[in-house]
Amino acid sequence: AEDELAKAGWLLNMQHLSLGDKIGEGEFGAVLQGEYIGQKVAVKNIRCDVTAQAFLAETAAMTKVQHKNLVRLLGVILHNGLYIVMEFMSKGSLVNFLRTRGRSVIHTGQLLQFSLNVSDGMDYLESKKLVHRDLAARNILISKDNVAKISDFGLAKVDLKCKDLTRIPIKWTAPEALKHNSLKEVCEKIEKGYRMEAPEHCPPSICILMNSCWEMDPGKRPSFKKLREKLEKELKAQQEG
Ligand code: ADP
Repeated sequence: AEDELAKAGWLLNMQHLSLGDKIGEGEFGAVLQGEYIGQKVAVKNIRCDVTAQAFLAETAAMTKVQHKNLVRLLGVILHNGLYIVMEFMSKGSLVNFLRTRGRSVIHTGQLLQFSLNVSDGMDYLESKKLVHRDLAARNILISKDNVAKISDFGLAKVDLKCKDLTRIPIKWTAPEALKHNSLKEVCEKIEKGYRMEAPEHCPPSICILMNSCWEMDPGKRPSFKKLREKLEKELKAQQEG
């Protein structure tokens, strides 16, 4: 993987990187703000050597995709394990964005726009036959100009190997994927028809769309392409209305 990345120009130079404040805590270590040749970046340092090697292999997948709604990888540096250098997303994770601002500050149009951004990025991954495996608000990052981008899409496979079963994101995992492990109780509840309630002020059309994503039969769930189209329409209607 190392040779492959070097050949393709993804190995960056440590000398050009300056590290700043810590901006987050990842599963494998701190995430720092930094600068790489004049550009603001976020840097993940993976110190464990075995893990670093696994990440390096996964990052190779990340180099093959590029989209406005995927957090861009600038490259990697082999130093004290592995440094993963990505574009800096100044407003942090979506889950944090929502929790710190609250419903009174973020209007429906903005939420729809974020959803549209995410399904746009997922539609692209889907077209490349890539499965994210860990799509959740904590893996969506928000840029300075409020564009939502998907992160950790190349790392998902590594991620799951390291996680124990109790840490699987149950609420966001399809029932057929949960079935393979010990989360029987949750599966049974879903099979009996239990679904999460729509949040307050959620437009009825979006509530219907959400529930279509939660169909028992995977074939009945919309593709991300379909979702993107529907959200585009919703957003347009919202802006006109
Ligand atoms: P891990 O997947 O290894 O657990 P995350 O990717 O979730 O780590 O990163 C942890 C936190 O670091 C995020 O919640 C976010 O606040 C911050 N972070 C990660 N990547 C970026 C980035 N590109 N720009 C800005 N902040 C980031």
